Amino acid sequence: MFQTSHIEISKSAYKKNIRYLRQVVGDYPKISSVIKGNAYGHGVENIVPLAEENKLRHFSVFSAQEALQVCKVKSPKSQVMIMGLLDDDEIEWAVENDVEYFVFDPGRLEKTFDVAARLKKRARIHIEAETGFHRTGFDYDYLPVLLEKLKENREHFHFEGLCTHYAGAESIANYVRVREQISQYRKFYRYFYRHGILPEYKHTACSAAVLTYPTTIMDMVRIGIAQYGFWPSPETEMFRFKKDPTINTPLKRLITWKSRVMVVKEVEAGQFVGYGSTYLANKKMKIAVIPVGYSNGFSRSLSNMGRVLIRGKRVPVIGTVTMNTMTVNVTDIAGIEKGDEVVIIGKQKRMDISVSSFSEMSNQLNYQTLTRLPADIPRYVVK
Ligand SMILES: *Cc1c(COP(=O)(O)O)cnc(C)c1O
Repeated sequence: MFQTSHIEISKSAYKKNIRYLRQVVGDYPKISSVIKGNAYGHGVENIVPLAEENKLRHFSVFSAQEALQVCKVKSPKSQVMIMGLLDDDEIEWAVENDVEYFVFDPGRLEKTFDVAARLKKRARIHIEAETGFHRTGFDYDYLPVLLEKLKENREHFHFEGLCTHYAGAESIANYVRVREQISQYRKFYRYFYRHGILPEYKHTACSAAVLTYPTTIMDMVRIGIAQYGFWPSPETEMFRFKKDPTINTPLKRLITWKSRVMVVKEVEAGQFVGYGSTYLANKKMKIAVIPVGYSNGFSRSLSNMGRVLIRGKRVPVIGTVTMNTMTVNVTDIAGIEKGDEVVIIGKQKRMDISVSSFSEMSNQLNYQTLTRLPADIPRYVVK
């Protein structure tokens, strides 16, 4: 096998997560599976079929480039929605292929109408409202102009959605700001309602909003991190735990990252291990070299800090993590040999290394750790 490590993706964990999230949002809302960032590092080609098996038929991505990737693997019945970058010269492709997209500036709107008129095909647009996130979205003051433009071009678009995005629903510290955004969104909706132009879907909620602000669950929800089995923050988990204490850790991590022992050897007391002199053996010890280094997504800042699992035991990284390897202290593991399974993230026997403990050690968010897992590590969907 030509690989130094691989990632397993659990089908049954995914199913449990979707079942739980369906229970939280109820039967009615459409769930859009957010698969930007290569499906949060899980691989678009792995997650799209899994989501479809679990009856999800809507996917959200950041760019046209990502949307194209999804179009190659999705079933013809599924929809794709671009929430961010769509260049003028990609709009034609989007309209032709029924790809939905956010519109948040006049330029994109004009271009959309030009293209739709030329193709004689309706664009499927989601109007994004600026409610206080201050990234993208139309300002409330612009609505009269926007409404005129929409009315003039009625036959060139389908008003798929009215949407917004919350600025930090995962933290109670942002409570006031999020509440303000919710009421601002309602103001936008009322404006359209009064003028008789209605979106098919009202949608605002990401994972954290779904889990902690029930009023944000509307016609559709856009769920990213939670479907992969992670809480947006410890606060979110605590909130849900207080709400339904009987459900024991309802979200399950999908990934397990594994490698193997490359070589085992002994080091005499008084010798330094690895580059430089960051680790000194203070007694005779046994070490194992693992063929995973910082070029494979195992951060150099985990030098002398990280932990991996071998034979059901947690063992420490010693010395500096190199480009392609790390060294661990296996003095206490009897019988360890070349080829033994190494778990970098995930469970082995009764021990577990979570993404958050892994990322706390290297000081990153789950979101960041996941999307930084190198795309060239092979991923396999397992039971
Ligand atoms: C990423 C993203 C989401 C999903 O966020 P999660 O916290 O992963 O659920 C929803 N909406 C927009 C606009 C996003 O960019």
